Amino acid sequence: MSSYSGNIFMVVAPSGAGKSSLVNALLAEDPTLVLSISCTTRDPRPGEEADKHYRFVSHDQFKALQQQKALLEWAEVHGNYYGTPRDRIDLALAQGQDVLLEIDWQGARQVREHFPQAVGIFILPPSIQALESRLTKRGQDAPQVISRRLLAAGSEMSHASECQYVIINQEFSLALQQLAQIVAATRLRYATQAQRHAELFSQLGISKTVA
Ligand code: 5GP
Repeated sequence: MSSYSGNIFMVVAPSGAGKSSLVNALLAEDPTLVLSISCTTRDPRPGEEADKHYRFVSHDQFKALQQQKALLEWAEVHGNYYGTPRDRIDLALAQGQDVLLEIDWQGARQVREHFPQAVGIFILPPSIQALESRLTKRGQDAPQVISRRLLAAGSEMSHASECQYVIINQEFSLALQQLAQIVAATRLRYATQAQRHAELFSQLGISKTVA
């Protein structure tokens, strides 16, 4: 265990904003970040692996996890249930590791109740047309699923203001750089630095709390 608690980053976006690609690229650049693997009742998409992309569970299994209070947060999104297992997050934070959650706005709200210092990052598409074309090109979902997700995208984006940071994913490499900058800046927050370098702060006679 570490005396330093890790940071929580919540990446929120409508479907088709390129969130997963950005998160995967960030994790490749910074393997110290721990990605939370959510539980979901939705079926796996082609190419998705169990316990890597999601933990795919039945409705009954999901209900059991809720009852056991094993989920840090959960929400119904596009007719399916999604939730963040609590154990992995608690362990990572206690070990001083930074955790990244890919969740919707409802989940982000619940996480903030437990961890007010959690950092919310909203990923926006550069235009509504770009969002539509990304959702159509993915080609892995039925047309009625795509139109449902387009409707849902508007409602997800109406909660963008609940996040401290916004990234507009027009150019992938720039958006990735911005995401990494948010992570880097968060690690330099006064409270974080004071906790991580407690001995140095004591030695230098500097306050451990922000003025
Ligand atoms: P998808 O089915 O496309 O992988 O994800 C659909 C939506 O569910 C996305 O907005 C994604 O962020 C959200 N989501 C994925 N995992 C979780 C989770 O554990 N909790 C919550 N609240 N939302 C999640």
